[in-house]
Amino acid sequence: MIQRLCIIGVGLIGGSLARALKQAGHCAEVVGCGRDRSQLQRAQELGVIDAFEQDPVRAVRGADVVVLAVPLGAMEGVMRTLAGHLEDDAVLTDVGSAKGSVVTAAHAAFGNVPERFVPGHPIAGTEKSGVDASFAELYQERRVILTPLPHTAAAALAIVREMWRQAGAEVVEMDVAHHDEVLAATSHLPHMLAFALVDTLARMHEQAEIFRYAAGGFRDFTRIASSDPVMWRDICLANSEAIAAMIDRFQGDLVGLREAIVRGDGQAIEEIFTRAKAARDRYCQ
Ligand code: NAP
Repeated sequence: MIQRLCIIGVGLIGGSLARALKQAGHCAEVVGCGRDRSQLQRAQELGVIDAFEQDPVRAVRGADVVVLAVPLGAMEGVMRTLAGHLEDDAVLTDVGSAKGSVVTAAHAAFGNVPERFVPGHPIAGTEKSGVDASFAELYQERRVILTPLPHTAAAALAIVREMWRQAGAEVVEMDVAHHDEVLAATSHLPHMLAFALVDTLARMHEQAEIFRYAAGGFRDFTRIASSDPVMWRDICLANSEAIAAMIDRFQGDLVGLREAIVRGDGQAIEEIFTRAKAARDRYCQ
């Protein structure tokens, strides 16, 4: 059981983790930290956190587990502030959507990647942000990927595994680079497509007309284009190589589909759609 959990960034992801662990009775006290005092007060009113500090150094005092749940672009700055201030036996972990950049940030901030730092990423979320959007069930039956390094302390890894298990998640481990490639394909590329599609349509002359006739398929496909632009800017900057590679690959396939349409090749079109339908029906029930 965690005695004092410190969540830096009490938004959707950090707030949901705090709620889940409280509900599971897995932590005695949660201290929140962020920049906006009114948001921290709101988190306290909602019962998501028990106390808060705006200064990260004060927030981590006495904490046995510290979770960084800030946007990727803020990770290094927060880690630099924390360097030399964590309790000796504290475990540090994060929830960032890309892992290579967080490991690089930890190295820059601490001078090395601490043994008691366990990089992590819950594969759960919504298009909403902030503590008001958080809920205790977010991680139920979802996966959390941990990307420990060879020198990560086994005891620290065990504490973070158990924390996520208590929050309802299935924990898996992956190499940092592999994580970033897999997530570029399954999460980052779909977000790029949704943002780009809605932006293209929004800039067409008849945009009001187009959105008026948008039906369920459009809503399903573009829901994630309502996600936070700052968070997604940071993910693009953090995982640029893998995302660019996936966009190139997809662009090639899209050109192939376009060519089949232009030459009226019904068989090729149907083959693509049949393969896609079979794959989706198999993996997304
Ligand atoms: P969010 O709801 O916007 O929450 C981010 C929190 O971080 C806010 O409470 C914000 O509060 C705080 N914050 C921002 N900059 C800060 C700083 N410099 N110092 C201290 N606190 C700071 O975002 P989220 O969706 O929870 O995302 C948080 C992290 O989870 C990101 O790294 C993201 O990549 C990762 N993630 C997100 C999802 C998803 O679907 N949303 C899924 C998996 C992982 P203040 O503005 O008051 O400081």
